[in-house]
Amino acid sequence: MSVTFVLLGSGAVRANPRRVGPSQLLVVDGEVLMFDCGPGATRALARAGFPAENVNLLFLTHLHFDHCGDCPYFVLLGWNNTRKKPLRIFGPPHTQEFVEKGVRAAWEVDIATRLAHGKDPFGLDPEVVEIAEAGDLLVRERFKVAAVPTEHADMDTFAFAVETAGKRIVIIGDTTPSPQLSEFCREADLLVCECSGTAEFLAQQPWGKWHMNPATVGALAVEAKVKRLVLKHFVIEDITGDLEVAERMAEEVRGIYNGEVIAGFDGLELVLED
Ligand SMILES: [Zn+2]
Ligand SMILES: [Zn+2]
Repeated sequence: MSVTFVLLGSGAVRANPRRVGPSQLLVVDGEVLMFDCGPGATRALARAGFPAENVNLLFLTHLHFDHCGDCPYFVLLGWNNTRKKPLRIFGPPHTQEFVEKGVRAAWEVDIATRLAHGKDPFGLDPEVVEIAEAGDLLVRERFKVAAVPTEHADMDTFAFAVETAGKRIVIIGDTTPSPQLSEFCREADLLVCECSGTAEFLAQQPWGKWHMNPATVGALAVEAKVKRLVLKHFVIEDITGDLEVAERMAEEVRGIYNGEVIAGFDGLELVLED
């Protein structure tokens, strides 16, 4: 059994030339599970060697555009490239409306021309599963995916955990700390967590309290006894242009937490099981 994690997009809201928007993959025996689809994710997916039409499972943490801005393109491209299997999208409440408006409604003119030329509509209307509460979302023979609500910007937001090959991988979109999140991360073999900026930087931003900083990420990793940590969603780099700040924040986390800490970058690949 093989399990590989790929960080497609380590960026955040702004169009950082070195980082596309949030997105990550877990590839289990060739089956791709995609988490978030931020701007640029579909091209990063191609760069990682996976055609959009071969990805059948997408999980959205929340409906902030940095986490799902590429979703319509991802759906349309998979359809255009003749998707073979249905696409299922798991996301918070309003995901169904988001997908319908972002695909069918926004691209009505485009879609009409392609259908008129004989294109099969299969693939245009993903099956959307809106997540209502904490619990298992998908149980398959080789993996299980669970979700838990996280606290972020007073909106419906979820973190996801995948259990496969005896490993637990937790992927967080945006969040602030909570006891429920710590419990969800417990003894994860890999925790992929946002670290939007330093505490000082976030304290100056009107939205800063919605996010994690090196101290809160480190405390979470220690409390949950996670084995390995990947940081991402470096808003601070977007705004300050400081290209060393991600590594400095990772170093700050290492001062709190003894496990491996990786300052994420686009294309980071970790083989978790061969
Ligand atoms: Zn975000
Ligand atoms: Zn957000």
